[in-house]
Amino acid sequence: MKPFQYVRATDEESASREMARSASDGRVASFLAGGTTVLDLMKINVMSPDKIIDIGRIGLDQIDTFDRGVRIGANVRNADLAFNPEIQSRLPLLSEALLSGASAQIRQMATTAGNALQKTRCSYFRDDTAACNKRVLGSGCSALNGFDRSMAVLGTSDSCIATHPSDMCVALIALNAVVHSRATDGSERKTPFGEFYCLPEKTPERENILKPGEIIRHLFVPFLPSRAKSHYLKVRDRASYEFALASAAVVLDIHDSGVIQEARVGLGGVATKPWRATEAERCLTGQIASTDLFERAAELAMGTAVPGRFNKFKIELAQRTLVSALETVAGQFQQSGWGSDQKDKIA
Ligand code: SF4
Repeated sequence: MKPFQYVRATDEESASREMARSASDGRVASFLAGGTTVLDLMKINVMSPDKIIDIGRIGLDQIDTFDRGVRIGANVRNADLAFNPEIQSRLPLLSEALLSGASAQIRQMATTAGNALQKTRCSYFRDDTAACNKRVLGSGCSALNGFDRSMAVLGTSDSCIATHPSDMCVALIALNAVVHSRATDGSERKTPFGEFYCLPEKTPERENILKPGEIIRHLFVPFLPSRAKSHYLKVRDRASYEFALASAAVVLDIHDSGVIQEARVGLGGVATKPWRATEAERCLTGQIASTDLFERAAELAMGTAVPGRFNKFKIELAQRTLVSALETVAGQFQQSGWGSDQKDKIA
């Protein structure tokens, strides 16, 4: 591992100051929070910063509840967030997604912002002998003609087909979360989660809209409409400590008549960023819930998929995952009394 300088920031200002100083010195600096991504990547020479700025003790570790939603500090640990009583009772989708990710040990260390900024698990990205445009822009993409079974089929480009690895982010996109960030000059901005991530296009090394040194302060997650119900379903090769082959975060608000008032669909494991399936949402909204409808929505959700050599199965898998998640949520409405005449239409 390359020698590096370690600096512990005491507050947001000192973190920004250290980052700005590194930029003016022409040195590469990286923030360190939980360490579950940065340290791994440093050990395998995929990241080799000149300076590490530890932001693990600058606060930003609170979960605050307001009338409209929850503010989640950037340094809140994944385990603390998943088991927070307010999150479990009012935003169970987020808790479900968090608990489906990584391992209990990693969730104790990983932070909210770190999860949102985690790097892809593309094996070529993590092999510094392989060509990888995300690691070295212009070097090529070994995955395009390589073993692409776990790679993305939505949002890909000729430069990169890496899958976004997070479960939490799939829930957050369906929950209309907002990212609050702070630039090195102290200015702050809010970015809807759906606009936070970039498609790889010709610049796969740029994964989100953060500017150099800009720090995530917290996320705001609005509560769902009181009647809405949700579910996160993840399909993977093994039951624990594994990334999604396909996942779906679903929110439905179904009227007593059986008409879907609002539908939100996030997809994971199949796309280069946390994916909002807007075509599926349009198909579902205003229609009577049924398995036929869910299957049509799932087809639309994957309509623009471009498979490679070994990952074509993901298209049908994602469709089935989405249909199953939608059926589960519709079933919750049935259990609470809605649509006794719809039971035969929802498998
Ligand atoms: Fe690199 Fe992306 Fe290609 Fe993987 S898919 S090798 S991350 S450019």
